[in-house]
Amino acid sequence: MSHSLSRRTLFGAGLSAAAVVVGVPLSGGPARATSLVTVDIIPTGVWGAVPPSEAITVLSTPPNKIIVHHTAHPNTTDLSRARAESLAREIQRDHMARGFIDTGQHFTISRGGYVLEGRHRSLEVLQAGSGHVSSAHTTGQNNEAVGIENEGTYTSATPPAVLYSQLVALCADICQAWSFNPRQIYGHRDFAATECPGGVLYGRLATLRNDVAARLGVTVDPWPTFPSGTSGQHARTIQYLLRQHGATITVDGSFGPATATAVRDFQTRNGLAVNGVFGPPVWPVLIVTVRNGSTGPAVEAVQSSLASRGYTVSVDGQFGPNTEAAVRAFQTDRGLSVDGVVGPQSWIALAS
Ligand SMILES: [Zn+2]
Repeated sequence: MSHSLSRRTLFGAGLSAAAVVVGVPLSGGPARATSLVTVDIIPTGVWGAVPPSEAITVLSTPPNKIIVHHTAHPNTTDLSRARAESLAREIQRDHMARGFIDTGQHFTISRGGYVLEGRHRSLEVLQAGSGHVSSAHTTGQNNEAVGIENEGTYTSATPPAVLYSQLVALCADICQAWSFNPRQIYGHRDFAATECPGGVLYGRLATLRNDVAARLGVTVDPWPTFPSGTSGQHARTIQYLLRQHGATITVDGSFGPATATAVRDFQTRNGLAVNGVFGPPVWPVLIVTVRNGSTGPAVEAVQSSLASRGYTVSVDGQFGPNTEAAVRAFQTDRGLSVDGVVGPQSWIALAS
């Protein structure tokens, strides 16, 4: 059975009224004729949200990733819908008290497996598969990542099966709506010095990507994709690696026009599709294995990436004993083979 057929069949099999409100035109582009959203999502208007304090911004650029969070609430045994709705109200109250215009994240999943709209208009935009609601869940990623908060604390506890299966289904709907690969599912700690989404849930992300891919009938890309506009450490890593290959760009952590041009030059020189997007075809050609004694921008890429994750290392382009110790610690933390050498598997982990 074709994937789209199965999902359309699912769609027609009887979903909530909320899930079939489709075709709302957005500034970001034409609405689709039919929403492929399969998860029953409780809208803001149903769980009793208060209006946002300012108008919600719907960006025309689509999201390119999902960021998974945990709420850090105690792991309640109340799995009811009433609890889920009161959680959504509590989060909105907390976030607005912190100065946000509305709930920070786009969606929330309760321990009972209820999926709720977070920030207003998130459901409408998902159904349209067009545009993106500017949000407040991960600094530097709010205009490009869909944020999902999972109720509970998963530092040592395992997420309930019903929560996890709803997370798989919601991620699949999101990947399908905006046409990005399940590789683009991350944890909050990939972008910030935070424990979120907890070591147990974070440790499940590789499985989550595979489960989402299976649901969609696709395979998981080994490497992440970073489009033009990416900022922060990932942009810095990309810039160092491009410099390793002779580009003269400045390492400023901002993937702007100069970096996109350098990516295009690299793609041209290496016979890759030329699109300025930093994705799976580029990474394996661009990375350089570095080890004790290596020098240069690729070493700076490793060092700056490790430093941004809290490992003690200075960014000097000299791969010495301190860098090797940090690499070994990182490899240990990520469950990689611990050899102190940064080869493809360690690069994949550093790029994530
Ligand atoms: Zn978080």
